[in-house]
Amino acid sequence: MSSSGELSGPTDIETRLFINGEFVPSKLGKKFDVVNPATEKVTASPYEATAEDVDLAVEAAKAALPAWSEMGGLARAGFFYKLADLLEKSNTELAQLEAVSMGRPISTYKEGYSAAAMFRYFAGQAADVHGESSLHKPGFLSLTLRQPYGVCAAIIPWNVPVSSVAVKFGPCLLAGNTLVIKSSEKAPLAVLRFAKLVKEAGFPAGVVNILSGLGPNCGAALASHMEIRKLAFTGSTRTGRAIKKAAASSNLKNVTLELGGKSPLIIFGDADLDKAVPAAATSILGLSGQMCVASSRVYVEKSISDEFTKRLVKEIEEKGSNPSGNNPLSPTTVRGPQADKIQFDHIMSFLKEAKEQKLQILTGGDRDGNEGYYIQPTVILNPGEDARVIKEEIFGPVQCVSTFETEDEVLKLANNTEYGLYASLYTKDIPRAIRVAKVFESGMVGVNVTSPLVALDLPFGGWKASGDGRELGKYSVESWTEVKTVFIAT
Ligand code: NAD
Repeated sequence: MSSSGELSGPTDIETRLFINGEFVPSKLGKKFDVVNPATEKVTASPYEATAEDVDLAVEAAKAALPAWSEMGGLARAGFFYKLADLLEKSNTELAQLEAVSMGRPISTYKEGYSAAAMFRYFAGQAADVHGESSLHKPGFLSLTLRQPYGVCAAIIPWNVPVSSVAVKFGPCLLAGNTLVIKSSEKAPLAVLRFAKLVKEAGFPAGVVNILSGLGPNCGAALASHMEIRKLAFTGSTRTGRAIKKAAASSNLKNVTLELGGKSPLIIFGDADLDKAVPAAATSILGLSGQMCVASSRVYVEKSISDEFTKRLVKEIEEKGSNPSGNNPLSPTTVRGPQADKIQFDHIMSFLKEAKEQKLQILTGGDRDGNEGYYIQPTVILNPGEDARVIKEEIFGPVQCVSTFETEDEVLKLANNTEYGLYASLYTKDIPRAIRVAKVFESGMVGVNVTSPLVALDLPFGGWKASGDGRELGKYSVESWTEVKTVFIAT
């Protein structure tokens, strides 16, 4: 708190673009508004990058490429350690910027630390990215080289912006590429603060360029740019499809996609409800339901469904309330608003439809208060497999609970989705846990633990319409390299 007793907000908001190591206005001088979703008032008006700025950023990244890629992994990693230290020291400022742009409560913000851990993890792999040798072909010593793609791009969402940058920036830069990043128009401010840390850490000008801009022009210009060789995207499945099409019809750049989810959580009759109930609640309450891995579809065995739903509703009502007010800048606030009016309207449309269809809403179902984009955490019982709340990603605090009777039945239900990001189950029966883990059609599975669970050294990513490619894990840096085979006649 400030001396006047007001809650401290950010004091230093950068609104310019970061190109070639400098903060600059956009070429056309256009700006867009970032609205604080807790107050519905404009927080800041950052410069909007358009295709002209994309070209400048790509030029800068291209010019910086030879020196950066020749520098060697260990020298590159040196910058990462400096950046990691700065990120940890800046956690509070980053938290304040996210609070006033996408409404995340500062009490839940640790991205400065998680991004720092990622940079240190990637730096540790600096000397481990190399090819193989072979004497298999008589008369030859043959090699494979792992070389950088060149100029790359990253397009990120608004829910965890700094981590979404770190998970791409880390392996991309370590592998010797240079990068142009586009943040989300809903949450560009912490990413611009991150750009200041990049400058302070001493990264050479142009190796990383950071643009704030809108998807259909700045994002689309990156996706179709002829000089960008690889693009890593995190966001919705709809946008992922558009990016893949743009890449295919331009220079066929390599594209990796981390997309949406509709994660199932199965609670079998023998589950430890003392653990399963809080886990189910936390999974949908985290970031106000705006997590790609949120357990938005819960399937509970009929024999325990009454007890489970009663306890779940109580838990969600208790954990999802803000007894001392809703302000995300307050250290006691645990649940924030939805990120913006578009998100708010999108989620409210599902709730309106659920009411029109007379679905059984056990708690919530409405807007929360009259100011800000707050929505009550909501539990809907047995909506039916054809309901839109079961089929589509809501990306809000809405959890569907459906009952089942047999393992075969529930596995069909769990896999009955276009998505395949995360799936979890609770049971004490280990053979069943292994059986179910194998049958889940998803990139990640939690046994007696629910999403989100992320480990630096293990791959993160989805099956089906949840993505293409993996981030983190020991092959992450390699995935930012091209392989070249060299035959040397002996
Ligand atoms: P979004 O797809 O609307 O936007 C993501 C980014 O793409 C933004 O920067 C946006 O400006 C840009 N964009 C929009 N249209 C574009 C276009 N035509 N060309 C290029 N870029 C364009 O998604 P969002 O609302 O920011 O994020 C929420 C979505 O992200 C959810 O579906 C969520 O599940 C998903 N997500 C996935 C993961 C994961 O790791 N799988 C992590 C976080 C969020």
